[in-house]
Amino acid sequence: MSVQSSATNTGAARYDVVVVGAGFAGMYMLHRLRGLGFTARVYEQGSGVGGTWYWNRYPGARCDVESMQYSYSFSDELQQQWNWSERYAPQPEILQYANHVADRFDLRRDIQFDTRVERASFDERDNLWSVTTSDGKTVTARFVVLATGCLSNARKPDIKGLDRFEGKVYHTGHWPHDEVDFTGLRVGVIGTGSSGIQSVPMIAEEASHVTVFQRTAQFSIPARNAGLTDEERNWFRANYPEVRRFAREQSKNGIYTEMPDRGALDDGDNKRRSNYEARWQRGGLTFMTVYNNLALDKTANDTAADFVRDKIAEIVRDPATAQLLQPNDHPIGSKRICIDTDYFATFNRPNVALVDIKTNPIEEITKTAIRTGGKDIELDALVLATGFDAMTGSVAKIAISGRGGQTLNQKWADGPRTYLGLMSAGFPNLFVITGPGSPSVLSNMIVSIEQHVDWISDCLSHMRDNALEAMEAERDAEDRWVAHVNDVAANTLYPQANSWYMGANIPGKPRIFMPYIGGVGPYRQICNDVAARGYEGFAMTGRRQTQQAAAS
Ligand code: FAD
Ligand code: NAP
Repeated sequence: MSVQSSATNTGAARYDVVVVGAGFAGMYMLHRLRGLGFTARVYEQGSGVGGTWYWNRYPGARCDVESMQYSYSFSDELQQQWNWSERYAPQPEILQYANHVADRFDLRRDIQFDTRVERASFDERDNLWSVTTSDGKTVTARFVVLATGCLSNARKPDIKGLDRFEGKVYHTGHWPHDEVDFTGLRVGVIGTGSSGIQSVPMIAEEASHVTVFQRTAQFSIPARNAGLTDEERNWFRANYPEVRRFAREQSKNGIYTEMPDRGALDDGDNKRRSNYEARWQRGGLTFMTVYNNLALDKTANDTAADFVRDKIAEIVRDPATAQLLQPNDHPIGSKRICIDTDYFATFNRPNVALVDIKTNPIEEITKTAIRTGGKDIELDALVLATGFDAMTGSVAKIAISGRGGQTLNQKWADGPRTYLGLMSAGFPNLFVITGPGSPSVLSNMIVSIEQHVDWISDCLSHMRDNALEAMEAERDAEDRWVAHVNDVAANTLYPQANSWYMGANIPGKPRIFMPYIGGVGPYRQICNDVAARGYEGFAMTGRRQTQQAAAS
């Protein structure tokens, strides 16, 4: 493999690796590739780094994994020096962190911004990818790494008349860079997932009136966000070796927290309630790890769901609104649980109304209003907190063709198929970071990103050291992995919800539980074992073997 980028006969630039996307995954991938002496080019359709945190600038956007953990661990200097201001940093600070990392590790010189990767085609004879970008150029690369993000393809809903609306329309996942001022406006918010739940309380403080259009009520736990004290920061800094080790190797979700050793039904009512109360007061995602069977046993799950429903009824003064806000059609946690600041209390404000669009779906959007239940609700601005075509959406937008000209979209027509969430058979030398079939969105994603980037980096070094040129998931290994991913999911309550994990938010998308729920620690061990056994389940070939195969 070359160490310098070079030009091919056709004049196209040639790299060892093309990376698509400059979020946390693409940035770290570039850093590792450089450190190993590979040439790399990153393409990013946005004008800056940060991915999720570049695009999602809506009011109230912040992480829901605590910042001392939702941060890179690859550089001890970085984690010792960066000062997170709050328990859950707001979006501008996370974006500032991404920019700091880009500067600190001098990443920008190999990132081409404002450039979409449109297509990638694999040439079987030379084991090279041709990558075509939105500026009309084509480059070649031995490897392509898709760091395109699981929640990066914002989904505009198909609602009749949406394009006719004369007020401003915003999507939370594609928020403008200029300040949006809702002062004095009547704002409609469609969607009550994490983005809606974070933004509604903030918008309500500014707008003259907010109408929240709710299709599915969501479980949400208070964030209990607060400024971080020096003492808290210093505790993490002193304990990072163990915190990070635990998150990577032992945890299920990439978060340093207690591992429960009992089920919800092992405790009596009073004890159980006081345990839930303690976690509710602590706030955050660890509410779901009070007991070890909340994702497995519906009766156990009901105890946690009832607790949260009771809390909603305590907070929301109007009983009819409280009832509408109580989720009753899916187990708690089977849709990504939300973490909020004053979401439910916001419905006690006189300028906030909740509209149930499950019973009375939106009929159409007119020039000035949303029509539901035969009534027009007049609005000046509309916020679409309607989510993403998750996990596969951004990959599907690239025309990727592999062996025999088969496209990835053809192969994934009935749902994504990967081996370990890293590669898909028929698409040699193409890696996906946090792809479907890996823990990905069920985890602290920076932990999962670092694991994939490190695994891919080790793999590319191994190939270089052994003069190998092509690597591909074997079909039977992939089939076994897909079956395993499905089996593990089927033993949980997750498939019972119409969630984006299942593709259920996109009309026509196959219903398959996409992430791997076996846990971050066990999954890492599986990946390490596969590598230790000589990349078991992957076919690896050198140049001569490839040419012989092509000639025969
Ligand atoms: P992204 O950050 O999505 O970056 C992918 C990049 O690829 C994007 O910039 C995109 O423009 C670019 N791209 C895609 N396709 C192309 C193309 N064809 N050509 C060029 N560029 C392309 N996870 C957590 O673990 N904890 C949290 O608290 C958390 N909070 C979140 C809050 C929000 C609002 C959202 C939407 C997600 C959140 N997530 C959270 C998930 C989050 O997406 C990940 O944590 C992480 O930021 C993903 O990084 P990434 O680099 O893999 O993807
Ligand atoms: P989401 O969870 O998919 O929520 C989308 C919401 O819009 C849902 O309430 C959905 O209703 C509704 N909706 C979608 N299409 C609709 C339509 N046509 N008509 C009416 N309602 C419609 O999306 P999100 O809130 O952007 O969050 C996505 C993920 O990003 C989260 O789960 C999380 O992983 C991450 N995130 C994290 C944070 C954080 O706290 N750090 C913040 C934002 C996002 P249904 O439920 O009925 O489909």
